[in-house]
Amino acid sequence: MTERSLSAFTRAKRVIPGGVNSPVRAFKAVGGTPIFMKSATGCTITDLDDNTYLDYVMSWGPLILGHAPPAVVKAVQAAATRGTSFGAPTEAETELAELVVSMVPSIDKVRFCSSGTEATMSALRLARAFTGRDKVVKFAGCYHGHADAFLISAGSGALTLGTPDSPGITQGTVRDTLSLPYNDLDAVSRAFDAHGREIAAVIVEPYAGNMGFVLPRDGFLSGLRELTNAHGALLIFDEVMTGFRVAPGGAQEREGLSPDLTTLGKIVGGGLPVGAFGGRADVMESLSPLGPVYQAGTLSGNPLAMAAGLATLRGLQVADTYETLERSTERLVLGLGEAFGRRGIPHRIAHRGSMFGFFFTGCDVVDLASAKTADTALYGRFFHAMLERGVYLAPSQFEAGFVSTAHIATALDDTLAAADDALSALHAVA
Ligand SMILES: *Cc1c(COP(=O)(O)O)cnc(C)c1O
Repeated sequence: MTERSLSAFTRAKRVIPGGVNSPVRAFKAVGGTPIFMKSATGCTITDLDDNTYLDYVMSWGPLILGHAPPAVVKAVQAAATRGTSFGAPTEAETELAELVVSMVPSIDKVRFCSSGTEATMSALRLARAFTGRDKVVKFAGCYHGHADAFLISAGSGALTLGTPDSPGITQGTVRDTLSLPYNDLDAVSRAFDAHGREIAAVIVEPYAGNMGFVLPRDGFLSGLRELTNAHGALLIFDEVMTGFRVAPGGAQEREGLSPDLTTLGKIVGGGLPVGAFGGRADVMESLSPLGPVYQAGTLSGNPLAMAAGLATLRGLQVADTYETLERSTERLVLGLGEAFGRRGIPHRIAHRGSMFGFFFTGCDVVDLASAKTADTALYGRFFHAMLERGVYLAPSQFEAGFVSTAHIATALDDTLAAADDALSALHAVA
């Protein structure tokens, strides 16, 4: 029963475009109407009609310690009683910056803002200023937030809604963004041959999580490092999703690579609005007030957000956290893969750390074009069958899934049992 969600959606649509404040929440990709949530704890989330679901969306990635972990809630409450915003520096900002610098190998200095979008937008401005060049190379299906420069063949909500290029973006912006296929190093090489002296930066999701979950081929990321070095462009790893997720130091630690700039978000804010960008000291020191590149924010480094980020990153320092996360995710992915296999459903499934994804396709998925071979209608039916059985997956085939430290063994077993049952039901209908 989802009556209350239905009426809440009707009410919301009167005053909020489409009834939601971020498009993928609207369930357009899977059909039906969105479930309105009212509370969550650990690995479960509860809707307005009191249905409780095992959650694999986890607010799209920030909640690596689960929903409302006591340490984070306590830290935010304590910060709130001291004052919610000062517009002046606080020690909490330095403490979180020290932790970020100690965890992420390539970051010497970091600046906090309030969203991943702000982080990537600011990193690009900085890269353009530092190199004195205008163009940026991105990859189709990679999502870097909703700043104009990146909404050219963007992933995530833009992809799901079938509007990869949003109206409202100027021709000038389109000219300065080169969108290439993910995993296609030859295309990058050709772009540098043609535009080498104009390219300020290459930005990439080191593990793509916004066209579904797509891994880099061996040599792709290191090839980007070599090409950017050779042509005097900066390499930006957008680790808003992978940062603190796939390893303490993100994908760059796992891959042993050092980008010039890194963008962060999601986990670094522990469920409150935080973004961050950081990297080489010489590049970061071009930022205002040290250098000429302007960047600012009334609520940047907000005390509640810093408290949530600190409590989350400290929670991740507990021994074996990443090993446990990896094992849980592996168990889930193996179980799902077996369940799809038993029904003869063509699929591709993968994970790194506690990030995972699957596609209903018989093709290897290496880029946006191959991701689009997935059977999105089947995904929609599977999504709803899982929802009915108490499992909340991403409402789109083109999103990653997330496991937290709160996803205990019984929750994973229940998920796999639900998947088996859901697939039986779909099979009976087909
Ligand atoms: C979520 C995401 C962003 C945008 O972050 P917001 O906080 O939603 O603005 C940027 N890049 C990547 C890789 C993301 O996953």
